[in-house]
Amino acid sequence: MRKLLLATLLMIPAAVVSAEDGVHAVNAVAGVAPPAADETTKPQAEAKPAIDCTGKLGVSRVAEVDTTGGGDYGEQYPPTKLLEKGEVVITFDDGPHPTFTREILAALAEQCTKATFFQVGQMIKSFPEISKEVQAAGHTVGTHTWSHKNMGAVSLDRAKSQIESAINIAEATLPDGVAPFFRFPYLSDPKRVRDYLASRHIAVMGIDADSFDWRNRSPDKVFKNIFSALDKSGGGIMLFHDIHPQTVKVIPEVLAELKARGYKVVHLVPKARVETVAVAEPEPMRNPLRRSTKHRRAVKR
Ligand SMILES: [Zn+2]
Repeated sequence: MRKLLLATLLMIPAAVVSAEDGVHAVNAVAGVAPPAADETTKPQAEAKPAIDCTGKLGVSRVAEVDTTGGGDYGEQYPPTKLLEKGEVVITFDDGPHPTFTREILAALAEQCTKATFFQVGQMIKSFPEISKEVQAAGHTVGTHTWSHKNMGAVSLDRAKSQIESAINIAEATLPDGVAPFFRFPYLSDPKRVRDYLASRHIAVMGIDADSFDWRNRSPDKVFKNIFSALDKSGGGIMLFHDIHPQTVKVIPEVLAELKARGYKVVHLVPKARVETVAVAEPEPMRNPLRRSTKHRRAVKR
């Protein structure tokens, strides 16, 4: 199964430096990583002029995460060596969204930077082309359950079905496969489910800095939230959602401000692709976009 990781490794610049905590620092390159422009690409690339990455946020390094035996990252877990002070990881949950995700991708491309998207299984099923565009743009794709169920409120069997169904649709959709990176909806992470993920060699990606973009409709407020969180944490894994208009509006300013404040973006990539297991798909599809709106009001966190 480890052979499958070759595709991912090809994207990685040079020497793999071994480090602890299952994280390998892979090269430090100054503000690099041009957006995946001229490879075997995308129809829409042709009309656009190449983006000049000079002075842009960029990616300071790629961190290859070894998920053998799982791994828990983010402030709610014991400290790891994933990131140095001043380093950030940009993450988006709940997509792919038929319109907003593309706008987020454009903002990231404009700053020549890379993020991780935790996609919901039924959203991938509804909008597979958008899901593929995220990967084609060079971002990392992990999963976020099939239909955004609270893993603390369902049986272990149901949790497994939610997790595996999302992985299966992602694997079936994405040419390069899906990363063994998982984010819990509502960050609700019962031990039994974390143990299961560890047994599947899937890492739990928590957060260090929340933009609260799911409950604040004002882009200004989202901007203030994320930077006050970063002021406290000094960096870390940042949480946004690519399903909200306020996030689309504010993200260009957020990226510019990260650059102005000297934060360094780390792009997380998996050491190996996830291995799939057969499972029956849960609930029949309803309108997944309805959930997106309800989500904002329903969640506690
Ligand atoms: Zn979510």
